Amino acid sequence: MIIDGKKVALDIRNRIKSHLENFPHTTITLATVIVGSNPASQLYVGMKHREANAAGIQSKRIELDENISQQELEQQISLLADDDDIHGILVQLPLPKHLNKEKMLEKIPPKKDVDGLTDINMGRLLQGQKQLVPCTPLGVMRLIEAYGIKTSGKNAVVVGRSSLVGLPQVLLLAERGADATVTLAHSRTQDLAAICKNADILVSAVGSPALINEAFIKPGAMVFDVGVTRLENQTIQGDVDFEAAKKIAAGITPMPGGTGPMTVACLLENTILAATLQGVLPRSH
Ligand code: NAP
Repeated sequence: MIIDGKKVALDIRNRIKSHLENFPHTTITLATVIVGSNPASQLYVGMKHREANAAGIQSKRIELDENISQQELEQQISLLADDDDIHGILVQLPLPKHLNKEKMLEKIPPKKDVDGLTDINMGRLLQGQKQLVPCTPLGVMRLIEAYGIKTSGKNAVVVGRSSLVGLPQVLLLAERGADATVTLAHSRTQDLAAICKNADILVSAVGSPALINEAFIKPGAMVFDVGVTRLENQTIQGDVDFEAAKKIAAGITPMPGGTGPMTVACLLENTILAATLQGVLPRSH
């Protein structure tokens, strides 16, 4: 089975669009902040704006100079934080090396933190009181729900331990309701293949092309490829050797067309949740 992220993402976008049509006099706005001219960041932000607009969410793009100071960056974020017409703030990562991501994140009000990366939102996730959750791991959970994949009591392995993907993915798979038994692997893990081979659900978020091959996959596993590497020939390669893995796995996300569109769809979902938390949209249930 190919786990079709494009299709599930489109369903989410359409659901958001229909929801917003109930509130024709309310405008929801997502602000994106991009520092410098990294081509991948430009591409991702462009995609986020297109999808937001297609869902009926307005977007405002703030482009900042590569050499902006920490203080100026924080001032820009504070302006968005104080603007009642802005409901979600996303700062495209990575930032240039001279800027401090953690200090910047402190300026984003937790209720506008559509990337779910502030200390408060991370802490809420850890405490079992999640609100805004990082989009990529949330996207994997939405695929699991959409395809009715059982997680309770299953062995899950997450490869990669970033606060953007791997760590929140572990928490989402292990939380009450999902109830998977989760192993977190990283660059120091010994015998990664043997550990992955035990996974009923395997999520790879490394950024190492074709790291995961047939020796890593348990027959019947569900495989979610998050890693993205742009090769010299400009094609995109995931962490998973798709052709080899699909012969063994019961389900697998393609790259592209798997977890990427879900990240964007969950950003839109988070923007709606952010507006709801701010009292701009009513709670739907
Ligand atoms: P990151 O911060 O660089 O983290 C990568 C993780 O992979 C680290 O924990 C690292 O371990 C681990 N790792 C590196 N080499 C390894 C190896 N040989 N075996 C096992 N683990 C290894 O990256 P990230 O921000 O989490 O992103 C991960 C990948 O996902 C990137 O390719 C990124 O482009 C992609 N991504 C995709 C989406 C999407 O929508 N599909 C969204 C976000 C990110 P250590 O901690 O020990 O260094």
